[in-house]
Amino acid sequence: MLPTRMFLLWISLLFFCITMQNVLCKLTVDATSTSSLSNPTVVIVGSGIGGTSCAYYLKKMVPNASAIILETDSRIGGRVYDVKIDGEVFVIGVYSWAGYHQYVRELVNEMGLDRTDRDFDGEPNFVSPFTFTAWNGTHLIDTREIATAHEESMDILENGTVDFYVRMEDNYALRGYETFSEMEEFLSYGALGQWPTLESRQYYTDGGVHLELQDLAMEPLQKLINSQGMEGHVFSMYTSLSMEMGRGRVVGGNLKLIDALAEATSADVFLNSTVTTVERLSDGFNVVYQRENEQREMYADYVVIAAPLEATDINFQNFDPPVSQPSRNWYASYVYVVAAEGYNKEYFTNDPGRDVPGFVVGTPGESSGLVFITSKNVADLIYYTVTTTRNFTVDIEDMFINPSIRFEHHWKFGHPVLEPQSAGGASYQDVVLSPGLYNIGVMNDVMSQMEGSVIAARNAALLIKQESLSVSCAISFIQIVPAIIIIIFTSMWIFIIDI
Ligand SMILES: Cc1cc2nc3c(=O)[nH]c(=O)nc-3n(C[C@H](O)[C@H](O)[C@H](O)COP(=O)(O)OP(=O)(O)OC[C@H]3O[C@@H](n4cnc5c(N)ncnc54)[C@H](O)[C@@H]3O)c2cc1C
Repeated sequence: MLPTRMFLLWISLLFFCITMQNVLCKLTVDATSTSSLSNPTVVIVGSGIGGTSCAYYLKKMVPNASAIILETDSRIGGRVYDVKIDGEVFVIGVYSWAGYHQYVRELVNEMGLDRTDRDFDGEPNFVSPFTFTAWNGTHLIDTREIATAHEESMDILENGTVDFYVRMEDNYALRGYETFSEMEEFLSYGALGQWPTLESRQYYTDGGVHLELQDLAMEPLQKLINSQGMEGHVFSMYTSLSMEMGRGRVVGGNLKLIDALAEATSADVFLNSTVTTVERLSDGFNVVYQRENEQREMYADYVVIAAPLEATDINFQNFDPPVSQPSRNWYASYVYVVAAEGYNKEYFTNDPGRDVPGFVVGTPGESSGLVFITSKNVADLIYYTVTTTRNFTVDIEDMFINPSIRFEHHWKFGHPVLEPQSAGGASYQDVVLSPGLYNIGVMNDVMSQMEGSVIAARNAALLIKQESLSVSCAISFIQIVPAIIIIIFTSMWIFIIDI
């Protein structure tokens, strides 16, 4: 009788092991903080906010992963770029985030950095973004006056913007730790899908917003934030309209966030390293990159492209199906830091009695290409940051009194053209380019902002976590197969002896 009981015991034990194995794997995949059972190597292309935050999320979500960041530039940060000139920090790329940008603010908190904004609870309060002076090529226009003149239109904008804000908050809450593999899926959380398919001009005209407000206030605002006007899609216009609702940045410059993220991850960061080819192997990827005039290669289980795909110029090989992505048009952006004795007022206004304020936004109506100018006083000079859509060196001579250009930078891939996407998702780039190969720059289809890259970076880390854990579960199962066989044979042997 004893061996029979032992047999039953063995069998029960066996079923118990298998059940526990499955339950544990399931729990580990669903939990918010887990450790991976395997050790994947993840190569991240690009060290902007997308690449560095992805490495950081990987460290938290897949602690056994080894991340390597390859960056073509000689500095980290990508489009987050601050420079110090004569002891002052000047912003060349990203300025700020908006209130609903949860992850960027969370990262800043986790890095222990000071922010200029505060957390707030409760209903979002609309804050008018029209507080600047626009320049249409001949006249300066106070957008506050335009907004006051169109009270009814402002009410329409307020309702729409608050609705957008609340739906963005819903998107975060509903998505939680779910992953998305297509942009349509991302947009389904909070029902955001209609806005990237509609053109702003048509949408706001149909909605009753006065054309004067659109031309003289909304269009310059869109140009200031997204480098384009009313032809952009509605999602991008709402990101601009909501920018003042909780606007914030890192005290001392946003580049501090990138530095802190790079420091906090255990990723190896290789600068001056340009990825040229990603080749699919039977069990991973061969990543070919150019560094110090030498071609090098490394193996990766996963590859994350943390840059606009079009900017990378990567040659993809052995893909089935081959990668064929909708390519987006991009606005170039030129940034100058100019020290001068002041503005040449005649350049900006026919009324020499009128002062030129410190912050001027150019409207698309004028052909000069000026996007905006900000100013600050340093010693007895005024320092201007001038952002334009074309080379502006000659204009700067006319614009300022005794100017000297202290710094200039050209963004080839500054802002994507956010034209309406076709409904059904045909014109969105893919999130998953091939199994194990993720595209962070995809968020630029709807949202040309830091937060978009962080949303996609976090999603890529979650996808890698899921993938590596399912591999781990499979491996663990294979590992217990010999044990199962031994248990079966032992049980049979005991059983035979028993009878
Ligand atoms: C002037 C300007 C102002 C902006 N202002 C704001 C703002 O106020 N708020 C906001 O939220 N957003 C703003 N943005 C947009 C924001 O900068 C971007 O959406 C965000 O920084 C993109 O981050 P990313 O990491 O996805 O890409 P990027 O920052 O572009 O990083 C990509 C990196 O990949 C590298 N790379 C590319 N190809 C390769 C390759 N083949 N091999 C290796 N490395 C490669 C690049 O050198 C780069 O460092 C602004 C953009 C510009 C240009």
